[in-house]
Amino acid sequence: MTIQHPAASFINRGNKQILIDGRWIDAIDGQTFETFNPSTGEVIGRIAQSTAADVDAAVAAARKAFEGEWSRVKPYDRQLILLRLADLIDRNFDELVMLDTLEMGAPVVRAPWIKRRALSLLHYYAGMATQLGGETIENSAPGDVFAYTLREPVGVVGAIIPWNSPLTSTVWKIAPAIATGCTVVFKPAEEASLTSLRIAELAMEAGLPAGVLNMVTGKGDVGAAMSEHPGIDKIAFTGSTETGQRIIRASARNVKRLSLELGGKSPDIVLADADLDAAVPGAAMAVFSNTGQICSAGSRLFVQRSIYDEFVEQVAAFAETLKVGNGIDPSVQIGPLVSRKQLDRVTGYMTTGRNEGAGLVTGGSQLTEGDLGAGYFVSPTVFKDVSDTMTIAREEIFGPVVSAIPFDDLDEVVRRANDTPFGLGSGVWTRDVSKAHRLARAVRAGSVWVNCYQVMEPNVPFGGYKMSGYGRESGRQHLEEYLNTKAVWVNMA
Ligand code: NAP
Ligand code: MG
Repeated sequence: MTIQHPAASFINRGNKQILIDGRWIDAIDGQTFETFNPSTGEVIGRIAQSTAADVDAAVAAARKAFEGEWSRVKPYDRQLILLRLADLIDRNFDELVMLDTLEMGAPVVRAPWIKRRALSLLHYYAGMATQLGGETIENSAPGDVFAYTLREPVGVVGAIIPWNSPLTSTVWKIAPAIATGCTVVFKPAEEASLTSLRIAELAMEAGLPAGVLNMVTGKGDVGAAMSEHPGIDKIAFTGSTETGQRIIRASARNVKRLSLELGGKSPDIVLADADLDAAVPGAAMAVFSNTGQICSAGSRLFVQRSIYDEFVEQVAAFAETLKVGNGIDPSVQIGPLVSRKQLDRVTGYMTTGRNEGAGLVTGGSQLTEGDLGAGYFVSPTVFKDVSDTMTIAREEIFGPVVSAIPFDDLDEVVRRANDTPFGLGSGVWTRDVSKAHRLARAVRAGSVWVNCYQVMEPNVPFGGYKMSGYGRESGRQHLEEYLNTKAVWVNMA
């Protein structure tokens, strides 16, 4: 089908191929799969469905580039490639962000945030490309022995991403690899491959040598083949905890390096002294933005009992002001869920919440009026009187569902907030600076946002505690994930 939108020219060019060694080709066995617009349910394209044989070809190309031409490209030239890619993404941004909208539903109202995020990431990693280096180390070995370290790229990186933020996730995975001199075999999520593929085209246009970035589209078996592949040195994965566990097991085959950004069930804690004018929309959008499809969503909303009823009412009233619809409309704030599967999952949790005795304050179902019925829309939902043991307080929903839980004092809320297998994000809303710092130390999570939520910058690390994964993305630590350290000893005698 042809989509009547100037930004859709990439889609209208036809079936999407994979990228191996700088060439766009069909999957070896010629299979393809369909991709959908979740706002309309329509098929918007066909994409090559890779198999393990395509992964083999991609790994071979990545290895050849890593050991060949790419190993001679200097840091400044890697920096220039990243800066050129940033310029190309800037110039083609309207098209790229529309691919996110058409394929996974992100409302165009989020475009300014996405643009700043993507460009700031590329600029940061471009800068970091020329900051790499080891140390000279004064040591006490007998005689006169000089020791220094080299920081070397880890090798061929398998990057695997989910569908919830294709444009920024793609950049977040490939930029540190290019900065450090690694090569990449990249697998987008099957629900949202188009933006990643277009970025790969732009990366080639930016002068990335053949084989440095290879794209293998397809289903979960492609990620599985990558995880166990002996030719891949490291997997950089973002996705569910369950898949992360599979990757850990598969990676044992060649003892791969891993960085895992997994799921969450993040606590957002509102104290009675909070500035409610800020905390109400802040806590609401900590769950509703991107239709709840954010790994660090503050989905367990702990509210101090003296303000609980009023706060929950206000969050529900805020939820009812949000415009849900096809994200192509710039007045829409909340788009669809990504797929029918995700719609079934989220509405299933809504039913479970009611069945287990949580109080539904607003939302709670699929939206089917008019055109919405063809897509995967749900209303922003607030449950109150949620207890810690209810399913909606324990499991990641990945949809716009707030579970509001009352608490009495600080020690109690710390214990309950930490009573989860996850540890990704967390929030604290208070005017009391000492309580804020106390909670920031006590909560076991990779990020604590005080009087804000979901702020992210390329130089501040992001990642999980516990079953939310390990390794950090952004910040200096992110580059470490793509580097090996070699110690060199020189006997000077
Ligand atoms: P998912 O099922 O784990 O999929 C993520 C990616 O892994 C997809 O590309 C998927 O391919 C691939 N995959 C599937 N099976 C695999 C296997 N056995 N080995 C290797 N890769 C495999 O996650 P999702 O449902 O798409 O995404 C939602 C989850 O991601 C949520 O749990 C969310 O919390 C998490 N997430 C975390 C972060 C973070 O930064 N911590 C950010 C965003 C999302 P297919 O698409 O073809 O199945
Ligand atoms: Mg889709």
